[in-house]
Amino acid sequence: MQLLDYAALKRLAEASNAITAPCSCIAVSLAAWEQVPLALEPARFDTIGTLRDDPYVEPTFVEYHPGGTRYDSVDAPIAPRYYPFNRCTVARCRQCARCYLRYEEAGGYFTEQRIRALQPGLLVDAALTA
Ligand SMILES: [Zn+2]
Repeated sequence: MQLLDYAALKRLAEASNAITAPCSCIAVSLAAWEQVPLALEPARFDTIGTLRDDPYVEPTFVEYHPGGTRYDSVDAPIAPRYYPFNRCTVARCRQCARCYLRYEEAGGYFTEQRIRALQPGLLVDAALTA
C-alpha cells in the first residue's frame, strides 16, 4: 500500500475539504473519531494509502495534544506520527471523493473500526519527541 507523507496527506485533506457536493458519507459528523457507522459500508470507500511507515514496527501509542484536547475531541490535532494516526489508512468515498482516516481500535476484548474526517485545518507535522 502506498505510504502517504505529510505533503501528500495535506493535499488530500485540502482537496477533500473543498468538496461541496452532498453525499451520504457526511450524514453523520465524523469531525471526531467515531465507530464506523453501519450506513458507511466498506465498499463505498477506496483505500488510497497508509500513514504507517514501517509495517514491522509497532507504532507508538503516545497521543499528541499540546492544546489540551483529548482523543475524541473534534479539534484534536491530526499528527501523522502519533496515535492513532500512525496506524491509519486513508479511505476515499467513491461517490464524492471526500477522504477519511480509518484504523482498527483494539481493546482488551474487542476490535472496532474507527473513522474520522481528514481535516486540513487540524493537520500538524509534529515530530515524535519521546
Ligand atoms: Zn461521500
